[in-house]
Amino acid sequence: MQFSFPPAQLPETACELRDAVQEFLDRERSAGTWTNAECSGWMAFNRAFSLRCGAAGFIGMTWPVQYGGQERSALERYVVMEEMLAAGAPMGAHWISDRQSGPQILKHGNESLKSAIIPAICRGEVAFAIGMSEPDAGSDLAAIRSKAHAVEGGWILNGRKIWTTNGNIADYMIGLFRTEDAEPGKRHHGMTQFVVKLTSEGISRRPIADIPGRDEFAEIVLDDVFVPDDHVLGVPGGGWNLVTAELANERSGPDRFLSVFPLLQEVARVLARNPGRFPPSELGRIVTRLSVLREMSMSIAGQIARGETPALNAAISKDIGNALEREIPEVLRRYGVVMPISGGSEADSLLRDVILSAPSFTLRGGTPEILRGIIAKGLGLSK
Ligand SMILES: Cc1cc2nc3c(=O)[nH]c(=O)nc-3n(C[C@H](O)[C@H](O)[C@H](O)COP(=O)(O)OP(=O)(O)OC[C@H]3O[C@@H](n4cnc5c(N)ncnc54)[C@H](O)[C@@H]3O)c2cc1C
Repeated sequence: MQFSFPPAQLPETACELRDAVQEFLDRERSAGTWTNAECSGWMAFNRAFSLRCGAAGFIGMTWPVQYGGQERSALERYVVMEEMLAAGAPMGAHWISDRQSGPQILKHGNESLKSAIIPAICRGEVAFAIGMSEPDAGSDLAAIRSKAHAVEGGWILNGRKIWTTNGNIADYMIGLFRTEDAEPGKRHHGMTQFVVKLTSEGISRRPIADIPGRDEFAEIVLDDVFVPDDHVLGVPGGGWNLVTAELANERSGPDRFLSVFPLLQEVARVLARNPGRFPPSELGRIVTRLSVLREMSMSIAGQIARGETPALNAAISKDIGNALEREIPEVLRRYGVVMPISGGSEADSLLRDVILSAPSFTLRGGTPEILRGIIAKGLGLSK
């Protein structure tokens, strides 16, 4: 099998839209919504900011007007995402809903669920979390042990999810549960995705601190939690195909190579004052690779818009993007452009934060070994 990244052309409306987003972001920054740019701002939770993004029409941009969307193109949405990421804006209260939970519900949810939840996501009112990983099931997701069984009018869920980004403050989670026991040779059968309200009776949540000391993820324990029938996504037992498509959405966006962009911008400012501190060729090498990743990522946005599930291309771009994100702080550190320990500038503190967060870049959303397995299978090199 071969793969290709068909070129994607930004629409004519992109320039106008880019100006509008930049003006919006300038206003937010001047109003003090954030003082220092956040690397991985897509994980930083700020509900008030998300409400204003919703009011400005920056959430659910490609979704049907009937559900509060704008019916704009995937590449117009791309322009908004890359501007927000580059600015280091705190998008954690709507990023997951907009990137993957909303599309998942629109495609596989029933009418009552869509009407209840999608307009609220578009307004920035509803934050979602991803309930896939468990203590003994990360890379090998089919090893999940959390279970659901059918009862009158719905399902009872039991189990434990872990590393759930913003799980402590999100309103809902799309969780993967076993609805049939795993049979030998059929491990991917018998799983189902549910939309779970995280304030439901029987749910307890425990924040988990990451290395920089933020409580950005959580453990979620479900003890006899009732979920109504209309919160099932797709056909019971058919959750594996849904989760695979969701992961393609999760892995393909510009968040997978722009996490450290605010740091690069600050470093560029430092270098403009003192250019001799860093070989221009190193900066050129980084910028060239970023621009190739941007072309790949826009191409995937186009494929998703055409209804394709570009799991192979998403795995390739995430693997290359995350490797670059991890390399950038190492290159900067090697030349001492900014000083993570002793310095006090914005660039110094961003580098400090990136050095502490970087190990997680290649874990979240799937590790390099798993991505390379998907790539090898996609190319027909392994079974
Ligand atoms: C910042 C962050 C946010 C996250 N957010 C979420 C979230 O919101 N929701 C969620 O569900 N999960 C989330 N995760 C969990 C993430 O998806 C898992 O950490 C990841 O899938 C790896 O699983 P694991 O930690 O269990 O490691 P393991 O699967 O135990 O892997 C450990 C090591 O073994 C390697 N390995 C495993 N299997 C193989 C194999 N077959 N071949 C070769 N090597 C292999 C892996 O590559 C890795 O290096 C998050 C993780 C991080 C770091």
